[in-house]
Amino acid sequence: MVCPRCHDKDIGRIGVRRYYCSNCCCEFKEKPDAVILYRLLEDGKYQQVRAIDKKATCE
Ligand SMILES: [Zn+2]
Repeated sequence: MVCPRCHDKDIGRIGVRRYYCSNCCCEFKEKPDAVILYRLLEDGKYQQVRAIDKKATCE
């Protein structure tokens, strides 16, 4: 598993199918068909940035 945004391998697991990338400060959730990318806002809420189709990233 690598960060879908910056492709960094140094990611931490924070929950079931939930990961955090300390390189670009993004959280992402793994789904069967896609990876959902979140951005942490200043008020502590998460905003969905985009969904990345796994088929497109799986090479
Ligand atoms: Zn990243």
